[in-house]
Amino acid sequence: MSEYQLTAVGHIQSPYKQKFAIPRQPRLVPEAKAKLVFSSDFNREEFVRGLDEFSHIWLLFRFHETADKGYSAMVRPPRLGGNERKGVFATRATFRPNAIGMSAVKLEGIEYKNGQLSLLLSGIDLLDGTPLVDIKPYVPYADALPHANNAIASIEPALSMVEFEANALADALAHGERLQQPVKALIEQMLAQDPKPAYQKPDPERLYGVKIWDLEVKWRYLSGASHCDSDQKSTLYIVSIEAV
Ligand code: SAM
Repeated sequence: MSEYQLTAVGHIQSPYKQKFAIPRQPRLVPEAKAKLVFSSDFNREEFVRGLDEFSHIWLLFRFHETADKGYSAMVRPPRLGGNERKGVFATRATFRPNAIGMSAVKLEGIEYKNGQLSLLLSGIDLLDGTPLVDIKPYVPYADALPHANNAIASIEPALSMVEFEANALADALAHGERLQQPVKALIEQMLAQDPKPAYQKPDPERLYGVKIWDLEVKWRYLSGASHCDSDQKSTLYIVSIEAV
């Protein structure tokens, strides 16, 4: 078997501090902004000269958080309700040979500040600290395939409703000011994707939570069924947003 060694060209600085609630694909949450910070060997403007002529780029990265957990030939894609198995190469599962992921994201800008080269990105689906193995421009005539067929996940997932309790809304706005980040919009867009497993019915008694930036966001489900047994979408009610 051939073996190769890969070098991280950079790392992602993202608001997502844990895997739970990260969107399942890029661009589903446009307010998910991140920085790609180049490693010292690639920290030169020449490496990205001309990249500002592209609106979108491909990120090739390593699923570093789960890479050491290995892979199996068959996985259960969440879009199929978690009880149907498919070959790993027929899915975008994170547990895969070589643990390589790919995301086409929006390039918002290129920054060279205090000697550090970074790309400013939005619509990302990546955990904080994700190592990048390559970056390529998105080429619409070759990469966009509007008539391509996908019988497993043909359309974007439907959105759930998101509501804020009054204090949680005030806290979202205050933390947004403090962090100078789109805290309210990110929470709304992220939770509209309903992060709980698709096959799980929401438990109205349970408080769910996720960490973004230095915040812990907690919510309950007011209504709704699991994705697979009904078209009815959940309503997520945000009860608190606290710095941790
Ligand atoms: N767009 C990529 C692809 O198709 O290869 C990623 C798809 S994968 C289904 C997206 C999920 O990967 C996210 O919801 C998150 O839970 C997980 N994820 C993101 N960054 C990760 C990392 N660095 N290590 C492990 N899992 C990660």
